[in-house]
Amino acid sequence: MGNFADFHARSIHDRDAFWAEQAKWVDWKVQPQQICDYSHPPFAKWFVGGETNLCHNAVDRHLAERADQPALIFVSTETNQEKTYTYRDLHAEVQRMAAVLQDMGVVKGDRVLIYMPMIAEAAFAMLACVRLGAIHSVVFGGFASHSLASRIEDASPKVIVSADAGSRGGKVVPYKPLLDEAIKLSAHKPGKVIMVDRHLAAFTPVAERDVDYASERAKHMDAVVPCEWVESTHPSYTLYTSGTTGKPKGVQRDTGGYTVALAASMPHVFEGKPGGTFFCTSDIGWVVGHSYIIYGPLIGGMATILYEGLPIRPDGGIWWSLVEKYKVNVMFSAPTAIRVLKKQDPALLSKYDLSSLQALFLAGEPLDEPTAKWISEGLNGKAIIDNYWQTETGWPILSICNGVEKAPSKFGSPGKAIYGYNVKLVDDQTGEELTGANQKGVLTIEGPLPPGNLQTIWGDDARFVKTYWQTVPNKLVYSTFDWAVRDEDGYYFILGRTDDVINVAGHRLGTREIEESISSHPNIAEVAVVGVADQLKGQVAMAFAIAKDTSGLTDLAGRIKLEGEVMKVVDNQLGAVARPSRVFFVSALPKTRSGKLLRRAIQAVAEGRDPGDLTTMDDPAALQQIVELVKA
Ligand code: AMP
Repeated sequence: MGNFADFHARSIHDRDAFWAEQAKWVDWKVQPQQICDYSHPPFAKWFVGGETNLCHNAVDRHLAERADQPALIFVSTETNQEKTYTYRDLHAEVQRMAAVLQDMGVVKGDRVLIYMPMIAEAAFAMLACVRLGAIHSVVFGGFASHSLASRIEDASPKVIVSADAGSRGGKVVPYKPLLDEAIKLSAHKPGKVIMVDRHLAAFTPVAERDVDYASERAKHMDAVVPCEWVESTHPSYTLYTSGTTGKPKGVQRDTGGYTVALAASMPHVFEGKPGGTFFCTSDIGWVVGHSYIIYGPLIGGMATILYEGLPIRPDGGIWWSLVEKYKVNVMFSAPTAIRVLKKQDPALLSKYDLSSLQALFLAGEPLDEPTAKWISEGLNGKAIIDNYWQTETGWPILSICNGVEKAPSKFGSPGKAIYGYNVKLVDDQTGEELTGANQKGVLTIEGPLPPGNLQTIWGDDARFVKTYWQTVPNKLVYSTFDWAVRDEDGYYFILGRTDDVINVAGHRLGTREIEESISSHPNIAEVAVVGVADQLKGQVAMAFAIAKDTSGLTDLAGRIKLEGEVMKVVDNQLGAVARPSRVFFVSALPKTRSGKLLRRAIQAVAEGRDPGDLTTMDDPAALQQIVELVKA
């Protein structure tokens, strides 16, 4: 055990020596020549000159010591499948998938888009891509055709790997029609689509384009596909996330820095040990799924559970039964999932032997105190560790690092700045650093961003600089777009986004994307979407729209009909995750005299709060309408 303050200080002030040490957690084909090249800020290059491979570190390197140990445990309570792949099995499956991708012409640097449910083949596909040096782009299976199309267009994949369907709560969710529609909408067309047929939803393959994975795999049962050694700075993947504008950003990650960051986080943050079991309940479509369902635990030589299903089916004890059965040591989930479980019979928590569990990590959205208390008591005082990060960073920014030095948690705080992160709170108007305790500022990170963080936005360096590094006046710092305070002990408290991003059940959504989708309904003239506090999901999207033709809206039935149509548009274009909880119809939206939408004011009144200073508002009646609608 060390001293965390010293550990952190060294990571900042003796940066290269610190990260050179962390780089030893990773297998390199060629050792790095330079630890960090920050000669062109804000672009950081980590472990320059080094050559490695992410798949080698996650799979192959473990074969010598743990070939017969479980690596991937696939559990589906949707299709009642349960299968354990040892490291040897995983190695074979990944090579089969890699051989199929090679047959489709995939080589180093090509993009492969993965649009899949939570099945083992999704993990094989991700690992197979990085094995070949191809860049994967996983799109969350809950996204619909428009969201998918914009990602296909931006990533321009040579190949797409998909499946006939997912399943949710026992209901089949077909993927193929959404994929076909997305390819139709996209200007870029993939050469091939590899279909994993689960026989859940019948589909007609597109001739010349669609190939059946089972038949292709059968040709490669003994495949030997060596890892392609790539430069440390070679992109491993892109992952799209929402921001202020409607166009999603492709967060681009490197290879060497990401591998080192995840490898080091296993002992330092998660206290995960080789041979142990990690259970992360996220989805591979999100960053938490990339880092802590797939890469982190495998790099750390652990078994990882890939779970398809709901937390309450067949009952609210399912996750705890998996903890008992697979002797899970580290669990990672989101506050919304715990709030869902909190509504179930508390006896389900004491029914299982949870003695293997060391800690439960929670991230993705604020952890409220009642939820934290409930789960902490339910788990008999085991560590509940709130940690804060973003798609962009790839691993936590704030957490307790019990693997470095044991420290208490504070309710409502994700802890302190993790090693490598030079976190600064700054005044949003002046850019001045706020050094005192309990001062509210924007949470920023001074460059270079540590290993594992985004390199740039895919294909758009200028947007990377402009979006993240030029929003704080007078300073070149990375903005997280979150407000925060830090107390006298160095613990941070996150207070919400500074931009128009909302967080629904831990899913990050841009209000502009939802507005654009709603506006495509022929009868919508204008719309404002805001995030409104919700007991279960943290936030939900709420829409206030102006209809072009209001004749049908004079009675309730007409309003309900249009509301239903608008929700359907969002479902079809973006996916149900983005569907607003309500669409209210108004005759005007509150704006400033210069025509800027007053989102903060709308959000405040939608949450029943005081809207604050309204001196710049053009038409007070517009806001009053919203007050009354929400009250009713
Ligand atoms: P995503 O990129 O989807 O992971 O979303 C990142 C955003 O989620 C952050 O910028 C925060 O607004 C929010 N977030 C993530 N983790 C936490 C946490 N532990 N506490 C509060 N907010 C969080």
